[in-house]
Formats: sequence, structure tokens, C-alpha cells
Amino acid sequence: KKTAAIIGAGIAGIASAIRLANKGYDVHVFEANSYPGGKLSSFEVKGYRFDAGPSLFTLPHLVEELFEISGKNPKAYFDYIRLDEACRYFWDDGVRLAAHANQRAFAQEIEEKLGEPSVHVLAHLKDSAVKYNVTEKLFLHRSLHKISTYFNRDAFKGYANMHRLDAFTTMNSANERRFQNPRVVQLFNRYATYNGSDPYQTPATMNIIPHLEYNIGAFFPKKGMVDITESLVKLAEELGVKFYYNTKITKLETQENRVTKLIFDANTPAPDSYDIVVSNMDVVNTFRKLLPEAKQPERILRQPKSSSALIFYWGVKKSFAELGLHNIFFSNDYRAEFEHLFQQKTLYSDPTVYINITSKHKPDDAPQGGENWFILVNAPNNEGQDWEALIEQSRQDVLRKVSHNLGVNIADFIECEEILDPRSIEFKTSSSQGALYGNSSNNRFAAFLRHANFSREFKNLYFVGGSVHPGGGIPLAILSAKIATDLIDS
Ligand code: FAD
Repeated sequence: KKTAAIIGAGIAGIASAIRLANKGYDVHVFEANSYPGGKLSSFEVKGYRFDAGPSLFTLPHLVEELFEISGKNPKAYFDYIRLDEACRYFWDDGVRLAAHANQRAFAQEIEEKLGEPSVHVLAHLKDSAVKYNVTEKLFLHRSLHKISTYFNRDAFKGYANMHRLDAFTTMNSANERRFQNPRVVQLFNRYATYNGSDPYQTPATMNIIPHLEYNIGAFFPKKGMVDITESLVKLAEELGVKFYYNTKITKLETQENRVTKLIFDANTPAPDSYDIVVSNMDVVNTFRKLLPEAKQPERILRQPKSSSALIFYWGVKKSFAELGLHNIFFSNDYRAEFEHLFQQKTLYSDPTVYINITSKHKPDDAPQGGENWFILVNAPNNEGQDWEALIEQSRQDVLRKVSHNLGVNIADFIECEEILDPRSIEFKTSSSQGALYGNSSNNRFAAFLRHANFSREFKNLYFVGGSVHPGGGIPLAILSAKIATDLIDS
């Protein structure tokens, strides 16, 4: 039987393991942490359960597909609901709106609360669908680094519609052209942050993202986000995949054009040479740390990274009827916020605050009468800033803003606190500079400047995960596993 080693049990590593097991490989997954999932994991403090990283679940069929190709019924392992409401938005002057999943209701709400004609919103969502359909076939399902990708019917259809992608305008300019009210511009600019980009730099192509929420839908796994990881690990184990936790790979030995040996930091019962090696470790660190003597693809490794985040996990001993699963408290100066994040590389004093509360849908995530708040502010990449000082300041800024909007002193209700910052994101998952989504998409060539899903130098080495093609976020990380393993023979 052919053997495959996977470095990292992030979602893309797990998806790769499932696909390779289905191809008949004997698969071993090596994970540095004591738990699987990387960013997509969970923890509990004082009766409050928190999803550690991702909170928004889109394109669930990509998870289901992994069960289906394994001959299993997805519903027997993993269940989720479609949300009626994508998000609740708050501005400091008291304006609030609910982003209903239903497009007409959403457009109507925007017209009522912000005076923007609903036809503008509907036209935007339609345009978003067109962009998505062009991009999906061209960029998301295939390697961009194989000639065959460019010579097939889908690709030619894509070329004919390329102009619809709006790659030569920024997202902000396109949105300012479409909408009259600056708050509607702000609301739609926010989608740039879904892949850690800056709406004032990223091309308007990224206006594909609202399509996911309003046309296809936003979802919530009934057992929390971590169930994506847990149910897929269960499936992988049933297929015979072996997981080795607390096992870090520290180096790859190579000979001519093959990886010949994996070096571990711990004594491991597993063999150290494999037919195929798949790295789910950030590609920058795969080269810098595991292959320091190999030729480094500098241009790609030095691309600017997507933003990072500062997260406060608060157990709050009070319920707030005005909050939903996803909530945004907008900055009064969005441009200044992004200028701070991407140019000055620091936090902004009036940040946009995102609060995710899974206990709204899964009451046992918090003690009776309480709520589990996951509070995220966008943060710059880790470049050695004084994080202790920044975190303390940000905590005050967040408390002030949220307390103002909710009319109570939130600090009085915080029962427990954990913090994740760009340093710990880097430390826990090996993401270069703590980036959430690999490279940023702040220029129109970004799609072509992500590393391929295979190595040109080493014939048995493949790359998956948020740092390589097609990009970050759960759906794209899962797709990277499909693209990489489709290149591997059974
Ligand atoms: P990662 O999760 O990065 O995991 C890599 C794994 O490899 C880790 O477990 C690490 O320990 C292991 N590893 C690395 N090096 C080694 C080694 N040498 N030896 C052994 N093991 C190693 N996405 C969404 O879709 N929706 C969201 O709402 C969303 N929000 C996010 C919020 C936050 C705070 C964060 C951090 C991310 C968010 N994302 C979101 C992005 C999403 O989490 C990631 O894109 C995705 O989970 C990345 O998966 P991955 O497979 O690349 O692996």
C-alpha cells in the first residue's frame, strides 16, 4: 500500500487525509498540538464553550462532499442550520439594522434604516453572483499552475466574462459608485475582511463575497464550528487514517527531487519515510523551517500577508436580546481603521468590533442567563509590536464602544476572559506573522502569487491550507485539499 504523511491536522490536512485514504493510501497525520483542527478548534472555561477561530460557516456542501466521496451519509455525522439572519449591525449614534438572509427583506431593511434605494442592494447582490460564477470555475477548483486549467470550456467561458470581475477598481471605489449612503458602502466594504484584506486596496472582484452570505447562505453547525473538525476527524479515523498528536515535524530531508525523510521532535512509532508528503503547515514556514536548504520561492514567500486579529473570549453573565449570533459595531472612521491596520501596522482607537455568540443558537455553550462572547477586532500582522500595551488599550476601546451601544457597563458582567493575539495565532498554528488567511488579496495579481498546491522541485511534496492556492477561509482550505490530491495518482 502506498503511504502518505500529512504535516498538520488543520482543516485542509484533515480533508487531504480523507481524500488520500479514499485513494487507497495508508495515511499518517502529524500534529504539533494535542488537538486537531488548528484554527478551527474549541475550548471551555468556567462553563462557557468557545469556538477558538472561525465563526462563519459558508459553502457547507464542501464539508458534506468529504462524507459523500467516502460513501457515508453526511447527516449521520454532521448537521447544521441555515441562518435567517446574516448579521446585526450597530452604529454609535444608535442606528441598527438586521441583515436578513432573505435578499428582499435585507434590501428593504437598508432602505428603511439608511434611506438607500433597495434596488441598489439587489443589483449589488446580483453582480456579486455573476462575479462568483466567473471566479469559481476559473480560480477555485483547479490548480492555477497547470496548463490544462487554461484550456477548457469553463476557462474560455470565464475569459469572456473577465471584465465582470472589476479587477481594475478597488472594492471601496466600486461600492462608492453604487451606493449613496456611506454606511451602506461601509457595510459592503466589510466583506474585504472576510479574507483579511483592505477594502481601500483590494480589487472590486472581492465583491464576490456577499454572494456567499445572501445568495448561497450563512450556516451554523448545530454542535458549534468545532464540529466541522470533529466529525471529519471521526470520518478520517474510520477510513483508517492515523493521527499522531504532540508530534511536530522539524525538518524534511531531501535527495535529488524527492522528500525522503521526515524529522520529528519527539520519539514516534511512525515510520519516517513516505511515498507522498502533504504540508498543511503555512507555506512560508514549510520552506523557512522544514526546507531551509531548498531553493526558496522568495517572490511568493514575501507577499504581504492578510490581516491578523485580536480576540477576547468573555464569559458574560447577562443576556442581551438585542444581540444575535453575529454582531458588528462599526468604527466611525473605517478608512482610518484600515490605514492603521495596513499602513501604520497598529490597532485603531475606534475599532470595528465583531461579537459572535454561539449560545444564541446552542444554549448549552453558556451557563443559564449568560452568553459566550467571542469578540474580534482586526489587527495588523505580528512585526514585534508591543502587544501587551496594544491589548490593554484595545480592551478599554472595545469595552467603551460596546458599553455605549448596549447602555450598560459590560466590564461588570465579565466572568472569565481568554485572549488570542497575532503572536499566539502564529505560535499555535504556525501562521506566518499570525495572518488569518495566508496572503492578503490587496492587489489584483494576488491569486497568481499564492504558492501552487504542489512543489516544482520535489515531486512527492504537496501543499494545502489557507496559505496556498486558492486561499484562506474554511471553504478554500478544503478546496486546496481537493486540488492537491487530484494531482496525486492512486
Ligand atoms: P490551520 O488551521 O492553520 O492549521 C495548521 C495545523 O498544522 C495546526 O494545527 C498546526 O499546529 C499544524 N502544524 C503546523 N506546522 C506543523 C509541524 N511542523 N508539525 C506538525 N504540525 C504542524 N474562516 C472562515 O471560513 N470563516 C471564519 O469566520 C473565519 N474566521 C477566522 C477567525 C480567526 C480568529 C482565525 C484565526 C481564522 C479565521 N478563519 C475563518 C480562517 C480559517 O480558520 C482558516 O483559513 C482555516 O482554518 C485554515 O486551515 P488550514 O488547513 O490552513 O490550517
